[in-house]
Amino acid sequence: MTQPTLTLIIPAYNEAEVLPETIRELTPILTQMIDSQKISPNSKILFVNDGSKDQTWELITTAQVLNPMISGLSFSRNYGHQNALVAGLTTALSTSDIMVTIDADLQDDIDVIPQMVDEFLSGSDIVYGVRDNRTTDSAFKRTTAQTFYNIMHFLGVDMIPDSADFRLMSKRAVAAFLEFDERNLFIRGIVPLVGFPSSKVYYKRNKRFAGVSKYPLRKMVKFALDGITSFSIAPVRFLLILGSFSMLIGLLMFIYVLYCVVTQHVVRGWASTITSLWLLSGIQLLAIGIIGEYIGKIFTEVKHRPRFIIEEDTFSSDTFE
Ligand code: UDP
Ligand code: MG
Repeated sequence: MTQPTLTLIIPAYNEAEVLPETIRELTPILTQMIDSQKISPNSKILFVNDGSKDQTWELITTAQVLNPMISGLSFSRNYGHQNALVAGLTTALSTSDIMVTIDADLQDDIDVIPQMVDEFLSGSDIVYGVRDNRTTDSAFKRTTAQTFYNIMHFLGVDMIPDSADFRLMSKRAVAAFLEFDERNLFIRGIVPLVGFPSSKVYYKRNKRFAGVSKYPLRKMVKFALDGITSFSIAPVRFLLILGSFSMLIGLLMFIYVLYCVVTQHVVRGWASTITSLWLLSGIQLLAIGIIGEYIGKIFTEVKHRPRFIIEEDTFSSDTFE
């Protein structure tokens, strides 16, 4: 077999602080694999500039002049991490045999990339990078992440715990993945649905060495809610059960009230009225909220808007020169 062409796909949003170091560290990893004839000399690093407001894009295009391995896509605005990954995979697909996605901040251990390639060479189409501990995360992030995995597992979604978007995929796995044409994209839930032989590579996750996380709590909550509601209608089904249950209680109450009227008991209950009022309104609002979340999903899917718009592409222009 001829050596496979690898493309490293790196989404970057306001990463000017880390980018030069990222390039400095990644280049030798690729060069070594090319020199040892593990991968083809056409292998590349593809940055996806997700509408950064800092010098990110300038840094990428300048680096490209000195280092022909580097290329980039630039979005017309910020479309989010998940869409940046899709854009990178879509663009790299035609010229690559394997694609590795990794964050720009080098929190994931780039030294395991050759190991991922070995796994590919021995037959895996998808190689997940899995963190072997979470000691670099805050206790809060650890607990919320664990709760999220538990909920997803309970809802029957088969995710690989402690694996983020650091993974290798073969050409056919990426092609299959791109068939999932949904706007509400939750990549780490979808990749296991693609099937094909897969394996895992374990690594330690470092702290971000510069800059701040681009995933504040607000984005994390949105990400988790998207993950849950794009994979399972169990929450809505739960509403049905909750609704039936409270209807049953209501019915029993009604019978009880009738009984009180017949036996001429005085109906005293202000407390019970106000309690059930609040309780039931709460349940109803919750129910409407959950259903609204799904209708919102349908709304965005039906419009079928583009997932990203590319303003500049130095990867493809580069390849067809
Ligand atoms: N990112 C992106 N668009 C966004 C937010 C983040 O492309 O809107 C990129 C970011 O530049 C980084 C990766 O997604 O390469 C992961 O983000 P970050 O490291 O901030 O997340 P964390 O590691 O804190 O979960
Ligand atoms: Mg990070």
